[in-house]
This record gives sequence, C-alpha cells and structure tokens, in this order.
Amino acid sequence: MTETVAAIVWTAGLVAWFVIRLPYQRRARKIGIAAQQRTPADRAALAAAGFGLSVLPAFYLLTGIPAFADYPFRPWMGWCGLVVEILFLALFYASHRQLGRNWSVTLEIRDGHRLVTDGLYRYVRHPMYSSFWLWAIAQALLIPNWVAGLAGLVGIGVLFFVRVRAEEAMMLAFFGDEYRSYAARTGRVIPRVF
Ligand code: SAH
Repeated sequence: MTETVAAIVWTAGLVAWFVIRLPYQRRARKIGIAAQQRTPADRAALAAAGFGLSVLPAFYLLTGIPAFADYPFRPWMGWCGLVVEILFLALFYASHRQLGRNWSVTLEIRDGHRLVTDGLYRYVRHPMYSSFWLWAIAQALLIPNWVAGLAGLVGIGVLFFVRVRAEEAMMLAFFGDEYRSYAARTGRVIPRVF
C-alpha cells in the first residue's frame, strides 16, 4: 500500500458515507418530529465532527498543509486503515438500516418513533457512534499527518461526549422504563465493556 492508495481509500470512504446516508436524510425530511433537542452545543459538536472527519483531512490531501505535522507513511498502517474503513462502512450501513425511519442527524423523536432493541441495538445502544469511532481510527491510520490524521478522533470525541448523555436523557424521558431496562442490558459502544 502506498500513501496515494491510502488517500484514495480515505476518499472512497467519505463518498460511501455520503451515499449510504443520503436516502435516510431524504426520507427524514418527510417524517414529522414529535420532540427535538437541537441545542447549540449539539450543533457545535456536529460541526466539530464534520470538520475533523472531512473538511480538515480533505484540505490536507488537496494542499499538503500542515506539512510540518507529516510523518513517514508505513504500508502496514495503510492496510490496517483499509480493514478498519471496511468495518466502519459495514457498521454504518447496518445501523442505518436497523434504525430506519427513527434515524435523525440530531436529537429528535419522530412521529411514531419506535425504540429499536434488536439487531446491533441488542448489544450496544450506539452502534452508529461506534462506527464513527472506527472511521476516525481508519483516518488516523490512512493519513500520515499528526493534525489531519488525528482530527477525526478529536471531532468524534467531542460529538460523542456532548451527544450521548443528552441523547440517553431524551430517550429516557420519552420511553421511560422501556429505555431504562434496555440501557441496563446493553453497552454504549462496545458490547458489555462500555
Ligand atoms: N445513537 C444511535 C442513533 C444515532 S441517530 C447510534 O449510535 O446508533 C440519532 C437518533 O437516533 C436520535 O435522535 C434518537 O432519537 C434515535 N435513537 C437512538 N437510539 C435509538 C433506539 N435504540 N431506537 C430508536 N431510536 C433511537
């Protein structure tokens, strides 16, 4: 694996992310919202994730800036990055399919919202966020630059820690005991561990 191929893998992952998400984004516009918590903090965290996982690395791949943070590319990192990228896309795709019409880019309860507790959601409460962590790890492996490579981990870290607590509080307020017992038998992003 060369540095150029690794950059192509990262770019293909970004395109695949967009293609997988698009139909859900389109459909979500047509489904009514029963309750929402679009807070400024959540918006800022979403922007941080977008910046770290797409804008900054894309800018680096196009311009080579910031060059001072480059380090030598190692083929094994590229191969590991490819494997993690594939795992990310598989998990991202499956979690969208399983969440279906209950999906939102932000914190929202849809009309007729159903608490999904099967499939991946049987093991973890946030498989889509698990997939985002994999995306950020893949980026760190594929882009040999301390700033552009690691920006994804910072971005998803901000989104995760701002979002998860608020999301779980919203789900608990809406689904009550159903969510409480669901949360008691699942992990957040890694089954049984966290
Ligand atoms: N945190 C989840 C979902 C991300 S999409 C994951 O990582 O897979 C965010 C929206 O999903 C939230 O607005 C919330 O309404 C909805 N949601 C989260 N968990 C859910 C569940 N178990 N069942 C149904 N909807 C859920």
